[in-house]
Amino acid sequence: MTARLIGFPKELTYRNQKIRDSARDEDCLVRLPGACLFDPRATIWSHYRGGAGGKAGALKADDLAGAYACTACDAVYDGQRPPPAGMTYADVVLAWHEGHIRSIVRLHAKGVLK
Ligand SMILES: [Zn+2]
Repeated sequence: MTARLIGFPKELTYRNQKIRDSARDEDCLVRLPGACLFDPRATIWSHYRGGAGGKAGALKADDLAGAYACTACDAVYDGQRPPPAGMTYADVVLAWHEGHIRSIVRLHAKGVLK
C-alpha cells in the first residue's frame, strides 16, 4: 500500500519518549466504529505501519508518525483483528490517518510538540 523509498536514510527515524508517554489517559483518536473501546486507560501511541514513516522490518516508524489509539483500534490497524462490520481495511487505514492528524494537533495543543 505504501511506497518504499530506495535509499531512505534510517537515521531519520525520530524517537521521542514524551510523545509515546503522552498517550496515557488520552482519548482514542482513531475511533473505529464497532471496535473502539472509547477508554482512555487503553490508549497507546500507535505507530504507522508503512515505510514512508521510517518503518523497516521490526523497526517501528518514526515517533512523529503515530496516533493516539486504543488497543482495539490499534489491533485492527495492525491486522491482528479484522475490520469492523461494514469497513474495509482501506477504511481502517483512512481512519488511522485521520487519527494521526488529530493526534499531531493534540500533541501541539498539549505542548509536547512546539
Ligand atoms: Zn479506539
